Amino acid sequence: MRNILLVEDEPSIADNIVYALKTEGFTPTWCQTGRDALQRLATESFALVILDVGLPDMNGFDVCRKIRTISNVPVVFVTARKDEIDRVVGLEIGADDYVVKPFTPRELTARIRAILRRTESTSPTPAAAVFAVDGERCEIRYYGAPLQLTRYEFRLLKVLSQKPGRVYSRDQLMELAWEEPDTALDRTVDAHIKTLRAKLRAVRDDEDPIRTHRGLGYSLKE
Ligand code: CA
Repeated sequence: MRNILLVEDEPSIADNIVYALKTEGFTPTWCQTGRDALQRLATESFALVILDVGLPDMNGFDVCRKIRTISNVPVVFVTARKDEIDRVVGLEIGADDYVVKPFTPRELTARIRAILRRTESTSPTPAAAVFAVDGERCEIRYYGAPLQLTRYEFRLLKVLSQKPGRVYSRDQLMELAWEEPDTALDRTVDAHIKTLRAKLRAVRDDEDPIRTHRGLGYSLKE
């Protein structure tokens, strides 16, 4: 993902950064206030956030603290005062790096590339990468291998993979995956889970990504 959120209230600085990011192949989204940034982060995903410390509505450090309650996205501070950052880095506010104004766009993009290299290589494989769902082709790949699924196996796995970790009851799975849930039986879900597991085991016999929660239902491992 190449989306970057830029939070900077000074248009001339923002213009320069946006231009540099685009040149480097990133897709920047620019907002001018902390509030706007937090709203964006709640609904969109970004590879990284560039955060000015001096914003009109909130202090950048407070924005970063709030970001940390909802996301682990890397944050790079932009500041006019290095002493300010030194103090805050001591507080372990959760930022990944900073640049001091004035900086060159090249300096900033080099930092960004370094952080993304680091975070992309250390983060565990997300479930989305273990399972790749192609809704249009009704195909799911598991560790890159296309699964040969029946219609309901496909729909069941698609539902589970949308929210790894969430436990779905049999009734919920029935509602979400079956076209006529009223005519199906609880056992039907169990039967499909069983065949699904066998197909997943055929790809990776050392893993069982579907978890059974006794008396509750099923989830996909996070
Ligand atoms: Ca500012």
